[in-house]
Amino acid sequence: MLPGRHLLNVSLLVATALLGVQFVGAASPAGLQPLLIMTAIACLLGIHLVAAIGGADMPVVISMLNSYSGWAAAAAGFMLNNDLLIITGALVGSSGAILSYIMCKAMNRSFISVILGGFGAEGGKAPAKGSEQAPVGEATATTVAETVEMLRNARSVIIAPGYGMAVAQAQHAVADITRILRDRGVNVRFGIHPVAGRLPGHMNVLLAEASVPYDIVLEMDEINEDFEKTDVVLVIGANDTVNPSALEDPNSPIAGMPVLEVWHAEQVIVLKRSMASGYAGVDNPLFYKENTAMLFGDARQNVDAIRGALVQAESPAMAMA
Ligand code: NDP
Repeated sequence: MLPGRHLLNVSLLVATALLGVQFVGAASPAGLQPLLIMTAIACLLGIHLVAAIGGADMPVVISMLNSYSGWAAAAAGFMLNNDLLIITGALVGSSGAILSYIMCKAMNRSFISVILGGFGAEGGKAPAKGSEQAPVGEATATTVAETVEMLRNARSVIIAPGYGMAVAQAQHAVADITRILRDRGVNVRFGIHPVAGRLPGHMNVLLAEASVPYDIVLEMDEINEDFEKTDVVLVIGANDTVNPSALEDPNSPIAGMPVLEVWHAEQVIVLKRSMASGYAGVDNPLFYKENTAMLFGDARQNVDAIRGALVQAESPAMAMA
């Protein structure tokens, strides 16, 4: 981040407007020079605006840039007198703006501050390991066998999927586990954070592809209060979206973002490969909580192993066949 970046952005915008006036007034080919300078300024402004954005605000920015491209196309449509370009540009621009607004609301960010270039970057930096704000304590590792035992003894289970489930392509095995547990009479549901994964609706699409019934896939607001009544939560490749520091640490870069409050459940099992941070680069105190156990490894391999063990436990003869 450069010092005085807002002033710099405004100066670049003013310079563009002045060059625009010069361009419109100039006769061809003299107008080419201001046009080229404007293009260079636009590139610089784009880089400068985006480089300042931190942490979990990036998805909002991506959809806002998408929206801007639509408005630019609509403006080009006016210049070229092309109705099709105006209409398609307006569609892209407005749908991107609506999506940005919805995401801002979901992440508790102010739309205006995002537009003005605040982008929540003032939220702070990720606490370094060993700093006062870094989570302390030991993470407890668990095994597939223990996880299966906990799942078989549970009456209610919530699955919180995230980006790692998408990368590992574990959704089909997750759907099978859901079916087996539901057949046992366990109340299995999914808690979906609005920005889980890397696209809005990412998790919903994957679960629908794996034929998970819609009525057990619930939005964050619908399920957040149920965690305290839940026996086991399986966090599969999610990290930022289940990070308690968003609510507990005002200096966290994701402070204020609503998250799935999985830690209220009796037992949380986190499936991921390491203690690495997620997209926002923030350490996650959830991993060090007493009721959290880490099941390290690729989500696909572990979920496959859980499915195999569950099948075997349910009907050993069938599994051997
Ligand atoms: P995160 O990005 O916070 O965390 C994903 C976790 O998955 C990582 O910590 C990683 O840990 C783990 N992982 C990766 N690959 C595997 C694997 N093969 N097996 C097991 N685990 C794996 O994901 P969330 O879904 O919780 O959060 C989404 C983040 O992305 C948010 O910060 C959101 O703001 C941002 N974002 C969302 C967009 C959207 O529209 N949904 C768009 C752009 C960004 P490890 O490496 O240890 O395995």
